Amino acid sequence: MMWLGIDDTDSLDGGCTTLVFHELLDSLPCEYGQPRLTRLWPFAAQRTRGNASLSVEIYTDDEIIPWLDNYWNTKILPLRGQVSDSEHSERKQYPSDPGMVLFQEQPEEDYYWNAVRGEVTFHDGGKQWGGNGRIGAAASCAWREKNSTWEGIAWRLEERRVDNDVLAKVDQMDGTFLCRDPRTKRGLISPRGPCPVMFGIRATSLDVAKNATELLIEGSAPIIGSRVFKTNQASGDHLETTTTVTVHTKETLNGGHVVINGKYLAFSESGKMNLLAQWMNEGDSFECMGLEYENMIHLEAIKIVDSKNRSRPLCDCGTRMKSMGSEQGVRCPKCKTRKSDSWVEENRQPLFSGWVQPPPDKRRHLAKILT
Ligand SMILES: [Zn+2]
Repeated sequence: MMWLGIDDTDSLDGGCTTLVFHELLDSLPCEYGQPRLTRLWPFAAQRTRGNASLSVEIYTDDEIIPWLDNYWNTKILPLRGQVSDSEHSERKQYPSDPGMVLFQEQPEEDYYWNAVRGEVTFHDGGKQWGGNGRIGAAASCAWREKNSTWEGIAWRLEERRVDNDVLAKVDQMDGTFLCRDPRTKRGLISPRGPCPVMFGIRATSLDVAKNATELLIEGSAPIIGSRVFKTNQASGDHLETTTTVTVHTKETLNGGHVVINGKYLAFSESGKMNLLAQWMNEGDSFECMGLEYENMIHLEAIKIVDSKNRSRPLCDCGTRMKSMGSEQGVRCPKCKTRKSDSWVEENRQPLFSGWVQPPPDKRRHLAKILT
């Protein structure tokens, strides 16, 4: 038994890591276990687009090495150095730097946790090919599947076309998630751009992922092939804890991003979450999750813990009392009753209750679906 991983083969001219891995598995001269797709820390310095790394347990021994050597040199190495296509042009793009790793023993679990929550360097040992991609490849091998979901991926032969009615049906199946935007009904399963992926359908069980994949293939343009991966998507593994924060300052930047206490950032694209951040008052408290990057916390979910309005008390007759002036108490404008209390604090009903997250298409692959 050995562990095989690859990462970072994405490029403008193809080389999508999931397809490279699919073809590698199809060619392997040995049996293998469940293929796995892992997402790692999104801010790692030299990640290419997509941030997916792949791994699998293979049922063989060292004798596979010459075969892998040859496969590496003829099929994967030629992908090196191509600059990946990006939908997020504000981030510097690095040329792809593919890596492949082979370990006799599964790398220790800590390596995965460090790689999903921060920057790590190369993992020693085993047999390794290539460059930076070896980091993600080894981290994928180290994943212990503590929290897992499934994704069925199909790769297109030429055009990218998925039937909307089939997608609607799949969206209604128990156990699929993030198929369509619940408000606009726009499909979320197909990427844009030159990537060879026709669709990636996410599910909470293997059976549902398989069924949904088969249904979608029937309603799609011709494909190269398909495969179901076990993944750490929607695991929340990248976030260790939630924090409770009291609002001291709140500012809205140009573009609508909201910054709380100079540290907690709710991007304008984050929809309801951004509205909720705008809605909060000084003195309110909220629970949150987010990734720290360059001394800011990029919020991924918030929940109001406490929010209050200061207002004049209600009179026994039901009318809102009014101030008589500084230190003069309050008086009912209707029945003229007086009271000494000047203010009452009232709980505000949050604009949205429970955990609030960005819209589905603006969430990280790793983001857990909170309810
Ligand atoms: Zn009154």
